Amino acid sequence: MKEISCKLLVIGAGPGGYICAIRAGQLGVDTVIVEAGKPGGTCLNVGCIPSKALIHAAEEFEKVSHMAGGKSPLGISVTAPALDLARTVAWKDGIVSRLNSGVAGLLKKAGVKTVQGWATFRDGKTVEVETETGSQMIHAETIVIATGSAPVELPFLPFGGPVISSTQALALSEVPRKLAVVGGGYIGLELGMAFAKMGAKVTVVEALPRVLAQYDAELTRPVVKRLAALGIEVMTDAKAKGLSTKGDALLVETADRKSAKVAADKILVTVGRKPVTEGWGLDQIDLDMSGKFIKVDDQCRTSMRGIFAIGDVTGEPMLAHRAMAQGEMVAEIVAGHKRGWDKRSIPAVCFTDPELVTSGLSPEEAKAQGEVKIGLFPFAANGRAMTKMGEDGFVRVVARADNHLVLGIQAVGQGVSELSAAFGLALEMGARLEDIAGTIHAHPTQGEGFQEAALKALGHALHI
Ligand code: FAD
Repeated sequence: MKEISCKLLVIGAGPGGYICAIRAGQLGVDTVIVEAGKPGGTCLNVGCIPSKALIHAAEEFEKVSHMAGGKSPLGISVTAPALDLARTVAWKDGIVSRLNSGVAGLLKKAGVKTVQGWATFRDGKTVEVETETGSQMIHAETIVIATGSAPVELPFLPFGGPVISSTQALALSEVPRKLAVVGGGYIGLELGMAFAKMGAKVTVVEALPRVLAQYDAELTRPVVKRLAALGIEVMTDAKAKGLSTKGDALLVETADRKSAKVAADKILVTVGRKPVTEGWGLDQIDLDMSGKFIKVDDQCRTSMRGIFAIGDVTGEPMLAHRAMAQGEMVAEIVAGHKRGWDKRSIPAVCFTDPELVTSGLSPEEAKAQGEVKIGLFPFAANGRAMTKMGEDGFVRVVARADNHLVLGIQAVGQGVSELSAAFGLALEMGARLEDIAGTIHAHPTQGEGFQEAALKALGHALHI
């Protein structure tokens, strides 16, 4: 059996693992990364990137569809457009493939050795990899577990036939006529809205009283309104129960505890993701767990010396940029640098229509810490939003009442994902309301809404 040794071994080349390996390589650490699938992990292959590609295509299709028949207020008219989903998916696959090569190239450039195969721990310093050409034993001083997450399967709706996960939804070659989405979280709504724009009749079945229940109702209101405008039926307080005998409908228990059938060609189950903690020899090492996740400290150290864990396998929020930030930090720690990270400003973006951004504390969390000032500026009063026909939404800034330190920023609106960088920077730099209010924002931009929200919190907004 082939045996190699290295200073650092990273298991999993998702955004957490590949960033960790690249940074370690840049710092001169002798690094090996093992990946069973393609470079980029969930995010690049079956998550962030492919979903945003489909969402973009769906948006474009919806835009031109609205222009058909000469009714667009923009004065543009087109003949009825058509969508060839197989071509859309091929375009999306092309982007993924270019980025796969990009990640592989970056690993190579940083001097990282990539081993393709499934890794299994043999002991705390040794991992066996099943490669195409046989087993390989890798001995490492330090090991980083970055095995990520996988879709949760419901026992009464197992994946197969019409029941699909987000992974299969991103590879469909035809738009389903009727799509049932089980789970009204961000993945279900992002994909459900995209398929509705492509022409599917979509029904969302959500067990909780609201969709996107982790956000406050004020923030999600424009999204809920848009779901209705797209003709998406949302069943809340409703529980998916199984598949009809013929396999052509989802069985549901409604809010009033009655049985209902939702006709569907495809049933997309998006009820969450679970950490990948099986199949790689967790039982061979003695790691403390925190529920189903690997327990780590603030520096991503596990309970075993020389083993770190990063990304989705370590818990919420399961986001690519969190995994990347952890990966970069761990690489620097392994290289001997003093590093920590500030979790407070991790932004979360939901690419629904309109988009949602949150960074820092929610108004409720901030209020629990003391008196606050809140400023909300609606896009209905923002010229740029009007010119983009995106008036529904707002920016909201939450700050301490005594010293005006900004604690949290939220926004909902067309394209607000791009504001997340400014929000994160403000929180990271410890901005006060006066800092945001005093920053000259370019006109006309939606960013002016951020400045105005801060001004509003200070009591002197200029445009409302
Ligand atoms: P992963 O990306 O899951 O990568 C883990 C890798 O490890 C995989 O490639 C796997 O093959 C490999 N692996 C596992 N075990 C082994 C083993 N034993 N041996 C070898 N290799 C192994 N996040 C965002 O921030 N923004 C978004 O817009 C967004 N959209 C999403 C949309 C969808 C549809 C989905 C499903 C997810 C989305 N996410 C998004 C979440 C994001 O994809 C994850 O948070 C992120 O990929 C986690 O990174 P990771 O490095 O922890 O693990």
